[in-house]
Amino acid sequence: MMFEEKAYEKFKEQILRDGPRLGPADQFHFQCHGGLGCFNHCCHDVNIFLTPYDVLRIKNRLGVSSEDFLDRYCLIPFSKAMRYPIILLKMKEDEELRCPFLDAPAGCSIYEDRPWSCRMYPLGRAAPPEGEAEELFHFLLQEDFCEGHRQAAEWTVAQWLENQNVGEYDAVGKVFQTFVQDKRLQEADLSPAQMDMIFMVFYDLDRFRRFVFDTKFLNMFEISPAAIDAMRSKDAALLRFGFDWLRFALWKDPTLRIREEIVRARLAQTGIQR
Ligand code: SF4
Ligand code: SF4
Repeated sequence: MMFEEKAYEKFKEQILRDGPRLGPADQFHFQCHGGLGCFNHCCHDVNIFLTPYDVLRIKNRLGVSSEDFLDRYCLIPFSKAMRYPIILLKMKEDEELRCPFLDAPAGCSIYEDRPWSCRMYPLGRAAPPEGEAEELFHFLLQEDFCEGHRQAAEWTVAQWLENQNVGEYDAVGKVFQTFVQDKRLQEADLSPAQMDMIFMVFYDLDRFRRFVFDTKFLNMFEISPAAIDAMRSKDAALLRFGFDWLRFALWKDPTLRIREEIVRARLAQTGIQR
C-alpha cells in the first residue's frame, strides 16, 4: 500500500469525531497468538509510521547505520503541506506486500524492538483538536479480520500499555510529541535546510552523531562532561539532546547555552561591547 496522505488525514478526522475515547481504566477484549487463523495477517500492506525511537531501536537491533536503515526499510513521503518529516516502514515489493520483518510462520523477527504502533495494537492514541481540554486519549482499532477482539482475555488500557512495555517508548515519545505539537512548528514555514535539520535528529541519528562529535559543534556550547559521555554511549541521550538543539536552533529556546568566550568573540567581531 502506498502512503496516501489524504486517506490518513480522513482517518484521523473520523477518529477524533466519532471514535469512543478510552481512558486508562476502560476495558476491552483482546488476545493475539499463533493459534489464530488471522496470525500475521496484520503484518501485510499496512501503513506503519516510525517514531525517532522506533528507528533507534530497530537499527540497533539490526546492527545497521541509520542511513542504511532509512535506505533499505523506509518510505519518506514528502509534500509541501507537511509540518515536519515523517517516515513509514516500506513493505516488501512482492504480491503479498509483507512487512520486511515478518518471518512467517513464526511472526515478527524484531518482536522485542517492534515499532510503537505494532506494540500498541489494537489501541491507537490521538491528541484532541486544539481548544479541547482533554489530553491524549486512546481508541480501539477494530478490523474485521482480526480475531483477537473475539477472545476472552480482558484488559484495561493501562494494563495493556504496561504489558506491551509501551512506557519505555513513551519516555522518549513524549519529547517527540511535545515537539511536533508545538504551535510554532505547526505554524512555521520551514526552509529545506530546517526540514533537513529536523529529519537528521528524528531519523538519521548516526549523521547527527557525526555532526555533534566530528565538527566544532561541542566547542560552541556549555555542555557538561557527564552529558557528553551520555550522548556518546546512549543513543536515547543523543536523541534527547537533538530535540534541545532543534528548539535552540529553530526558536532560540534556552535549551542550550553558548560558551561565554564564543559570545565575547562574536560581540568583538561586531564591535559591540557589554
Ligand atoms: S489477532 Fe489481530 S493482531 Fe493478532 S495476528 Fe490476528 S490480526 Fe494480527
Ligand atoms: S514490525 Fe513486526 S509486528 Fe510490526 S508489522 Fe512488521 S512483522 Fe508485524
